Amino acid sequence: MKVVIVGGGIGGMSLALSLCAAGLADIDVYESAPAVRELGVGINVLPHAVRELAELGLQDELSRIGVPTADYTYYSRHGQQIWREPLGIAAGYRWPQLSIHRGELLGVLHRAVLKRLGPGRIHTNHQLSRFGNRDDGGIWAEFIGRDAAGVAARAEADLLVGCDGIHSTVRNALYPKGDPLRWNGVLMWRGVSQAAPFLSGRSMVNIGSSKRRTVVYPISLVPDQRNGSLINWVATCQVSTSGMPPQDWTNLAERERVVETFADFTFDFLDVVQLIRDADVIYQYPMVDKDPLPSWNFGRTTLLGDAAHPMHPVGGNGASQAILDARVLARELASRQTIESALSAYDSQRRPATAAIAQSNRKAGPHRCQDLVEERAPDGFNDILDVMTRQELEGIADDYKLTTGSEIDRLNNRESLSVPSSVESRPEPDASSAP
Ligand SMILES: Cc1cc2nc3c(=O)[nH]c(=O)nc-3n(C[C@H](O)[C@H](O)[C@H](O)COP(=O)(O)OP(=O)(O)OC[C@H]3O[C@@H](n4cnc5c(N)ncnc54)[C@H](O)[C@@H]3O)c2cc1C
Repeated sequence: MKVVIVGGGIGGMSLALSLCAAGLADIDVYESAPAVRELGVGINVLPHAVRELAELGLQDELSRIGVPTADYTYYSRHGQQIWREPLGIAAGYRWPQLSIHRGELLGVLHRAVLKRLGPGRIHTNHQLSRFGNRDDGGIWAEFIGRDAAGVAARAEADLLVGCDGIHSTVRNALYPKGDPLRWNGVLMWRGVSQAAPFLSGRSMVNIGSSKRRTVVYPISLVPDQRNGSLINWVATCQVSTSGMPPQDWTNLAERERVVETFADFTFDFLDVVQLIRDADVIYQYPMVDKDPLPSWNFGRTTLLGDAAHPMHPVGGNGASQAILDARVLARELASRQTIESALSAYDSQRRPATAAIAQSNRKAGPHRCQDLVEERAPDGFNDILDVMTRQELEGIADDYKLTTGSEIDRLNNRESLSVPSSVESRPEPDASSAP
């Protein structure tokens, strides 16, 4: 089976590795950028995705560069603690939660693809321009160089997977109308700063509410010469719902505007204002997603990752769900009789699952506890249990784990998505093992 992967981001690279591990090695990755560049700031890979990367043989390398985040604390905008829970291994998962630089994660995946498939299989500076079905049931695709006029390459294959991110060309061709980006009026500012470790040194904190929030966590443990570690931060602010700013991951923000917006975010456990001042650059991006689709499959074409289910970056599921998509698609392709039945199984497992997460994220997902506190006790509280019951707090955290398929026992004990070497004798996978 010959597979064309459009997009060499986290989803596309994870798919290439997953297909290769499942015994399908006739794969080409087409990436529009001139090179696979290690861009972005911090990202979280949740235990359900670390499990998949571990089964692809990447856990040791990822553990060398990522931070195994140990605890998560929600605070109100006054810096009062609302909820605290352990994460990853500390919570009882068999796999850590890794906080990592997005570019470094992509670098690990990219190097593994180069090693396992060979450098000739990654085609940079190849931007998908058109694709279609062949009479014999396969697909064709044409690519242009970013600066060159005319077609740079034409590929023919049995399957095309659009892993081309939130502005997906594949998705736009499949759904040319009625599929706009939806902006919730929130601006996200992101940066990485060098600072002294805070709380446990492996803590993630979330301060504020949906009106104004910062999420902060370290992405390196090794102190540098200035005796700090790399601390990733995201600051979000509800501004408006009209005039959506550009959706470009490299768009820069005005530092003073961010400082002014968060001027009162200085707490005894963390000085957010200083972090904002210390970042080399601050990126600005609107918080956007899209409505769920009625299908990801059109003949021998399907979607994966942000192209399939762009979601608000709440709870760290953007990259993690793309990795899960890749593993499920590879398993289905390797174990079903036909490509069509594999795509159908992939769509029926992953589309509803990711739609539920995207919907939950629109309502702030696990961050909902902060909105309830802001609503019920805007001026602060003496005891959080005067404002919310323990059951309410636990319920919010547990609901999100259920929605994202990351309940501890279920994840620890579910069947692997890896394909056994003799797939011919394998029964059709049981839907109950779906993540
Ligand atoms: C430059 C960049 C920086 C990012 N930084 C962050 C960050 O700091 N924090 C965060 O939470 N998320 C970030 N993201 C998004 C995050 O990577 C995704 O939400 C998540 O990892 C899902 O990955 P994906 O592979 O589906 O999409 P993406 O990571 O967006 O990858 C899509 C890939 O497809 C390529 N592509 C697009 N169109 C075409 C085309 N027509 N032909 C060929 N290739 C195409 C893109 O260049 C890109 O490499 C960033 C994405 C990008 C592209």
